[in-house]
Amino acid sequence: MTTTPSAARPMRLRFAPSPTGQLHVGNARTAIFNWLLAKGSGGTFILRIEDTDRERSTAASEHAILDDLRWMGLDWSEGVEVGGACGPYRQTERLDLYRDKADELLEAGHAYFCFCSAETLEAERKAALAAGQPPMYRGTCRHITLEDARRRRDAGETAVIRLRVPEARDVAFDDVVRGTVTFNTAVIGDPVLVRSDGIPAYNFAVVIDDALMDITHVVRGEDHISNTPRQLLLYEAFGWTPPAFAHVSLVMGPDHSPLSKRHGATSVAEFRARGYLPEALVNYLALIGWSPGEGQELLPLDELARRFRLDTVGHSAGVFDEEKLAWVNRHYLKQAAPARLTGLGVRFLRQAGWIDQVTGEDIAFLAELVPVTAASLDRLEQLPGRLAFLFDYSAERTLENAAIRAEALAAQPVVDALAAELASGAPMLDKEAFRAVATRVRERTGQKGKALFHPIRLVLTGEAEGMELDLAVPAIERGAARLPRIAGARARAEAFVRVLAAGTQGTR
Ligand code: GLU
Repeated sequence: MTTTPSAARPMRLRFAPSPTGQLHVGNARTAIFNWLLAKGSGGTFILRIEDTDRERSTAASEHAILDDLRWMGLDWSEGVEVGGACGPYRQTERLDLYRDKADELLEAGHAYFCFCSAETLEAERKAALAAGQPPMYRGTCRHITLEDARRRRDAGETAVIRLRVPEARDVAFDDVVRGTVTFNTAVIGDPVLVRSDGIPAYNFAVVIDDALMDITHVVRGEDHISNTPRQLLLYEAFGWTPPAFAHVSLVMGPDHSPLSKRHGATSVAEFRARGYLPEALVNYLALIGWSPGEGQELLPLDELARRFRLDTVGHSAGVFDEEKLAWVNRHYLKQAAPARLTGLGVRFLRQAGWIDQVTGEDIAFLAELVPVTAASLDRLEQLPGRLAFLFDYSAERTLENAAIRAEALAAQPVVDALAAELASGAPMLDKEAFRAVATRVRERTGQKGKALFHPIRLVLTGEAEGMELDLAVPAIERGAARLPRIAGARARAEAFVRVLAAGTQGTR
């Protein structure tokens, strides 16, 4: 049997996550490809929840997945929470439907009840492995008539329902990404369609749903490729035309094994928490295994959708490259609206414990600082580090560094002159005021250039490098007037002189 995709009609694509954990970036990429195809073709993107694994599925996970999809801008016009003509869209709400469909297959002889116990099956499996054969169901219950089977069940025996797989023939399909894929049924044991507790197995529910939801293209990870012949046999048993299939390569870690925890972050939630912008993560994930054109990789979702074509997706494994993700993110951080960056930045500063409730004026102050700082970051979680000079000044900590202490001691005249200037002067609220102070320190000490400004940097920021002092110093002074956590320049210079002197006495 070879299947060809049905004639051109509006594309209907689905993303069908199992709510058993956080959304993995590999699955997010599958969702993105489906979304791009639907949007780019004027079709429909459907969100279905495959929650038949009742032990592992949780409402919290479903909620988190939906939230991540919305965060990435992958909206759906049909599916859970929004409804649609083919609902319900959560598999555990469709159990009656699966039951009816299982009955149809039983009546038609395409499926049968199997009474083999777990122990028997396990013993058979072991025996097959020991004999060097593939562990497959042996078909013990194939010949039990439906009547007998129903009688035994009425008498209290439990049974699963299995598909009667036709013997020794090829099942082939034209995978849009991988070309013709062929399996022989000789390697397919009769799969379980419905477990003894009445819950459908994945392969059964997915076919019924894809068929009844009129899905035209199934785009999913290649880890599902061996399920596809089983699913095709089900389409055949029902007399349904199957959708087109596209199995996209998995997202790999740098060692070319599937991206997993041991490689580091794997979930959308983790990248989100690190301060990657959604448009960056989506854009980057779309580039794994696909390219919108040499040198034209940085594109918004709608433009990606316009260009996306399934048959241009590569079939070799795509490696997740966090450096490239950071590059994409830098691009979007530079482009993002200042007010948005400020809002996001405030969250990271709050997480660092440096600010609490903020007023509109506090925000106005941060708005001068956060967007310029963010434009030079890989991701927003680095923001507190960059603004530590402002919120986390400590002369003690700075002078614990032997090299800095030595430099400060060698530049003591500059340090003292700066402290003396600040002791009597007004706060340096703008760069002119800062420069005027620097000029007077230069006049007092005769130092200039690096010999002047580097010690000033150490005293006022506590750091050996960082943002321009013209920007940093007014930020310190204005911040000190606003936020209790920020020490002003005068207090910093006093503390620096005191700690430098104390440390010097201590070491003598
Ligand atoms: N629930 C399945 C998964 O998350 C969906 C597979 C499919 O798309 O058919 O892997």
